[in-house]
Amino acid sequence: MENQRLKEAIDSLKSTKVRMTPQRHAILEYLFSNRTHPTADEIYKALEGKFPNMSVATVYNNLRVFKEVGLVRELTYGDSSSRFDSVTTDHYHVICEQCEKIVDFHYPGLDEVEALAEHVTNFKVHKHRMEVYGVCPECQKKQ
Ligand SMILES: [Zn+2]
Ligand SMILES: [Zn+2]
Repeated sequence: MENQRLKEAIDSLKSTKVRMTPQRHAILEYLFSNRTHPTADEIYKALEGKFPNMSVATVYNNLRVFKEVGLVRELTYGDSSSRFDSVTTDHYHVICEQCEKIVDFHYPGLDEVEALAEHVTNFKVHKHRMEVYGVCPECQKKQ
């Protein structure tokens, strides 16, 4: 499943002008096999052993490239570092207030919010954003 999504991402990159490099492949592989919504720094730390010449800036620049072609989403929460999400279909995030872990969940019912907002305000609505906050099971155990 994850391998299939990685293969599709690589294929769709081939259809763009973006060149595949070993670093880009490793970053994509990391994003698609770790659904933890990592920061550029976390990806850098995970891959620096494999690519000693790579810098955090390189990782970040590659993530921007993937974002431009629609392979990843950048998540911004307040002034903490951006996190990157390989899942580009619509989903929501529940965020642990203690360890900042982000977990995906789906709730298609909320799409109605967009239709309702359009109806009530006459806006042309493009998207909506919602986050849910709480304490994850691991942090609950520590309490
Ligand atoms: Zn937690
Ligand atoms: Zn996500």
